[in-house]
Amino acid sequence: MDRVNKETRTQIMKKVKSTGSGIEERIRKELWKRGLRYRKNVKSLLGSPDLAFKNYKIVIFIDSCFWHGCNLHCRMPESNKDYWIKKISRNKERDLEVSKYYNENSWTLIRIWEHDVKNNIDEVINKISKDVVIIILSEYSRFRWT
Ligand SMILES: [Zn+2]
Repeated sequence: MDRVNKETRTQIMKKVKSTGSGIEERIRKELWKRGLRYRKNVKSLLGSPDLAFKNYKIVIFIDSCFWHGCNLHCRMPESNKDYWIKKISRNKERDLEVSKYYNENSWTLIRIWEHDVKNNIDEVINKISKDVVIIILSEYSRFRWT
């Protein structure tokens, strides 16, 4: 059994979440430095994407290993294990629904794992900016030449 009560456990888990926000912040700063102007925490879009380029129909989600149930790193707390298993599997289902919605409506969806950012943030930033720039350029040429 866990020695902390339910409330304390919830507080600890919220801290886990805010560690994830630190990662979002690093990505935002890097993209901004490269001149990519996004909106953040876009509540008007399904699933409130962490970043979005609305004009170009691009959404970016940065998924924390715990809250999104990463197979490699998500460890369920010992206390209230059933509660957490249910909660995390609901989150995963929601992620699938959200992804499906964007794929079906011709959005570009980019999902990034927390562990990818921790392992190699440069690679993540390069990939995001490459994808975004390609889309912006193709939109630009479409407007320009047709
Ligand atoms: Zn992970």
